[in-house]
Amino acid sequence: MIEVLISGASIAGNALAAGLARAGCAVTVVERAPALRPGGYAIDIRGVALEVADRMGVSDGARQWSTDTEGTSFVDAAGRRIATLPLGFGVLDPADIEIMKGDLSRVLHQAVPAGVEWIFGDSVAELDQRGGRVAVRLERGGRREFDYVVGCDGIHSRVRTLAFPGDHLHHLGSNSAVFTAPNELGVRRWQLIHTMPGRVMSVKTDRGSREVKVTLLYGGGMPPRDRAERVRSIEAAFAGAGWVGPRLLELMRGAPDLYVAPNAQVRMPGWTAGRVALVGDAGYAPSALTGQGTGMALVGAYLLARHIASGGELGEYDREMHDFVKVNQRAALGAARGFAPKSELAARMMSLSIRMLPYLPGRNLMFATMTRPARRAASALILPTAMGQPV
Ligand SMILES: Cc1cc2nc3c(=O)[nH]c(=O)nc-3n(C[C@H](O)[C@H](O)[C@H](O)COP(=O)(O)OP(=O)(O)OC[C@H]3O[C@@H](n4cnc5c(N)ncnc54)[C@H](O)[C@@H]3O)c2cc1C
Repeated sequence: MIEVLISGASIAGNALAAGLARAGCAVTVVERAPALRPGGYAIDIRGVALEVADRMGVSDGARQWSTDTEGTSFVDAAGRRIATLPLGFGVLDPADIEIMKGDLSRVLHQAVPAGVEWIFGDSVAELDQRGGRVAVRLERGGRREFDYVVGCDGIHSRVRTLAFPGDHLHHLGSNSAVFTAPNELGVRRWQLIHTMPGRVMSVKTDRGSREVKVTLLYGGGMPPRDRAERVRSIEAAFAGAGWVGPRLLELMRGAPDLYVAPNAQVRMPGWTAGRVALVGDAGYAPSALTGQGTGMALVGAYLLARHIASGGELGEYDREMHDFVKVNQRAALGAARGFAPKSELAARMMSLSIRMLPYLPGRNLMFATMTRPARRAASALILPTAMGQPV
């Protein structure tokens, strides 16, 4: 039986564990957190990733837990809704599944057959490839051997650090902060967005929840590690913000789940080194700015599972993913430059054009062009070739 160690139990890790275990491999998953991580922020399954979710049998489960958002409104500094885009007008497509990360992780986890070994609260410390096997030392002292080791451990991947020398992380000049807050605005099945020069604030509801997810997007270098410093840097970035900015900052200070992440890409020429491979953000994070990272993790897990389970050449996975990764990562670069207006004048122009959107002829097409640049094309790229027939 082929023995595989997966590092990380989120989107890529659970999807890969499901694919490999169903194909008859002996799977061990090691996750640094003490349990599956709940909560998180809204992520998307769209394009070719919807096909993967269907083939895995998880799309119904994911839909059941989707955020159920019906549209988005842009608000000005006084809180007036300056434009409203219902579902299907580009920002959200009715076919896509938008779901909180913790919910998708749980849906995927439930799709993993019994018999998989789960090790929580530990991490790979050393990797050594010899004699067609990979020797692993875990931080808590265990020594094991596997046929393959796969890093599904996110943008700061330990497996990548151990098996792929070099610095592959590229910061795109902005960061995202996310936290849960009470729904003081009384929003229902909706998202509110306020853009200002260099900054964006958004409030989004989740299915059945009395709370909202707040996302703050702001320019700057790598976020500091220390929480107090992080909070201070966000306060500085949003100083003078209109709308409910001051209240959101106050709520952020006390938020137990405040999560701050760099908008960064992992760029590598390939994602396999002998019997070690990377899937998802660990190998090809496109950044939060694309809305594609989850789909890429699902597609990558699906394709790699087939190669490992068939005892095939892992290099084939590199070839299949190459163009898909490249196009998706390129799509983020435009978003990185234009995630927020640069000046007060640009912000005013942006408000004006947003306000005009609902009245313009051909607006469906325009919304689609504006908000879904390369995502669909990128999603479709590898569908007919690499994915082949359902398994
Ligand atoms: C603020 C924000 C907003 C986003 N919005 C979207 C969006 O709208 N749409 C979208 O598709 N994507 C979005 N993304 C990106 C998306 O979250 C990722 O692309 C996706 O979660 C990748 O999944 P993954 O399993 O590869 O990595 P992750 O979800 O990062 O999971 C990595 C797992 O590995 C574990 N781990 C880490 N280190 C170790 C270790 N040393 N040993 C063992 N385990 C370890 C972690 O605990 C975690 O469970 C967003 C990201 C952020 C930060």
